[in-house]
Amino acid sequence: MSVVTRFAPSPTGMLHIGGARTAYFNWLFARHHGGTFLLRIEDTDKERSTEDAKRAIIDGLGWLGLTHDGDTVFQSKQEARHQEIAEQLLREGKAYKCYCSAEELAAMREEAQKEGKRISYDRRWRDRDASEAPAGVEPVIRIKAPLEGEIIVKDAVQGDVRFGADQLDDFIILRSDGSPTYMLAVVVDDHDMGITHIIRGDDHLNNAARQTVLFDALGWDVPQFAHIPLIHGPDGAKLSKRHGALGVEAYRDMGYLPEAVCNYLLRLGWAHGDDEIISRDQAIEWFSMEGINKAAARFDFAKLENLNGHYIRQADNARLIELVRPLLVKALGRTLNDTQNAVLTRGMEGLKQRAETLNALAESALFYVIDRPLQLEEKAAELVNERKAVLADIADAWAKLDTWDADSIKPVVAEIATAHELKLGKMMPAIRASVTGGTGGPDLMDILTTLGQEEAIARLRDVC
Ligand code: GLU
Repeated sequence: MSVVTRFAPSPTGMLHIGGARTAYFNWLFARHHGGTFLLRIEDTDKERSTEDAKRAIIDGLGWLGLTHDGDTVFQSKQEARHQEIAEQLLREGKAYKCYCSAEELAAMREEAQKEGKRISYDRRWRDRDASEAPAGVEPVIRIKAPLEGEIIVKDAVQGDVRFGADQLDDFIILRSDGSPTYMLAVVVDDHDMGITHIIRGDDHLNNAARQTVLFDALGWDVPQFAHIPLIHGPDGAKLSKRHGALGVEAYRDMGYLPEAVCNYLLRLGWAHGDDEIISRDQAIEWFSMEGINKAAARFDFAKLENLNGHYIRQADNARLIELVRPLLVKALGRTLNDTQNAVLTRGMEGLKQRAETLNALAESALFYVIDRPLQLEEKAAELVNERKAVLADIADAWAKLDTWDADSIKPVVAEIATAHELKLGKMMPAIRASVTGGTGGPDLMDILTTLGQEEAIARLRDVC
């Protein structure tokens, strides 16, 4: 049997970070088995579904590199098929029309609450003849759920989860306006799309029992379910807005790389021994249902940042430049000229060693491409003010150099230090302050060679 998985988001907001993890797991499982990964947009809730949300989900998946196979399925377009199945169940006597009014249902709910019963609808139309139907009332269609025994959801993560028949009501499959409910639409679509495995959040476990009732009624194979524990915030409560960013695009905007986010999400809910850094290829090779954790994991922003730093160091410099350039352009309010682009290219290798996010990387690159004269930070200004004469001499000596590399730059600095009776260690911070405007950054020789002779000298002269 060839594996077919799906990601089935409802387009009511951004691509949630938990949804991204669900998508990644389904994608990995399909890729691991050489199967198919499908995307179904569950847009049946017309009030809450928006075009922006659809775009955000598709963009988010694209950014994460979770490409799906085949065409995107839009659930709303399958409505006729959902209705056809509801009618079929009706014809086969496996479903029935219910004419209850809202008042009747409310009264049943109240009654059930009083008696402490789990289900409120008393199945009053289950065996009633249609001839008794009140005039002018459009009925809903309800499934005949089993009256006794139990429904077992065979779950790859949770094991066999048993639901007593008394926990399931005759739920609605078609509303009175002819629109399908989520429960019916999901089952019909999963069947029609040939889905073999459903990996999703464990908030859908109860739905799985109802969906099993429908699969059984239709005589269709039940896909293998795998309900994964939800993501919790650092405090152990379900991840929510107050914990910080929820949407995938927020992580992109904070300067995370998609491969870092995927690696982090994978580890958040799945394990392969103690491995922390798991590339996408490795994940495809290793991914299995057995590795999925049974307990909820806590989101740890520091860990994500750490991983991101790792992937930044691994990333191709040309790619990082493309990602950082727009951030620099935004900060500067102008584009970079050829010289500045060349400086950025030379400097990237050194810069990426110390950045955890692209935003931090851009911030650390800013001094390379900023307009002269530099605005010195307070501490930098102090360092420079103490050494103006020395810095002027260094600038003059550097101007005479024919080659510009660490081997030619350093001896000149040492010579001038001796002439001024200063230790080399006393001069380097002042040079750094002059050419960067600050006190941190990559190795000083790296900075100077990256800036180039002309620019380095000009920056020194600016402060003298
Ligand atoms: N559309 C549902 C959601 O976004 C998921 C349905 C499913 O995976 O079965 O929560």
